[in-house]
Amino acid sequence: MKVPDPADFSKMLVALNLLLKPRLYIMDGIMAMEGNGPRAGDPVAMNVLLFSSDPVALDAVACRMIDLNVDYVPTMKPGKEWGLGVYSEEEIELVGDPFESFVNKNFKVVRKPVKSVLSNGAVSFIKNLFTSRPYIIKEKCTKCGICVKSCPADPKALNWKNGSKELPPVHTYTRCIRCFCCQELCPEGAIHVRTPLPGRLIFRGV
Ligand code: SF4
Ligand code: SF4
Repeated sequence: MKVPDPADFSKMLVALNLLLKPRLYIMDGIMAMEGNGPRAGDPVAMNVLLFSSDPVALDAVACRMIDLNVDYVPTMKPGKEWGLGVYSEEEIELVGDPFESFVNKNFKVVRKPVKSVLSNGAVSFIKNLFTSRPYIIKEKCTKCGICVKSCPADPKALNWKNGSKELPPVHTYTRCIRCFCCQELCPEGAIHVRTPLPGRLIFRGV
């Protein structure tokens, strides 16, 4: 809620790492997840463990393994500019098994730049037309209410219609900050993400 824009959130992550100064970063990619992550995706065996003292380099190597353009990841540029790490191939030294043996170009991931979330009230209408948003697949929903509890917006952007738990909760997109906590925590994988039609038309070439 405090840092809704992905670019600002990424800068916050970089700043946090610079403050905490972890000495070693580990990415467990023995069994990765593709598709509707971070919770309801599909497992994919990548059979890799990545270790680095540089989190930017580690992320960049992981991106190249799944054929994701590093420029689409908003932590990269501030990470380099602020001295947290590097992401160009030439600056990264790899040791271990051959990199090529871990590449999976069919890995399902969104290969597009992360779009800015506009939070100004005057542009919330535009935001709702163009930015990706969570939606509930009613047939999968067991009406457990976990998503409602997880929504950090105040008032909530996801709630029971008229207080009734007979039907799945409903989103109020004008209040939704697109944190996707509801999607992450739904135990049934009933919440997916999609971009409204105007956004799909505008950004299809991006
Ligand atoms: S968490 Fe999932 S299953 Fe539970 S109410 Fe929300 S959408 Fe339905
Ligand atoms: S993405 Fe889900 S949890 Fe986050 S603000 Fe929107 S409705 Fe609430």
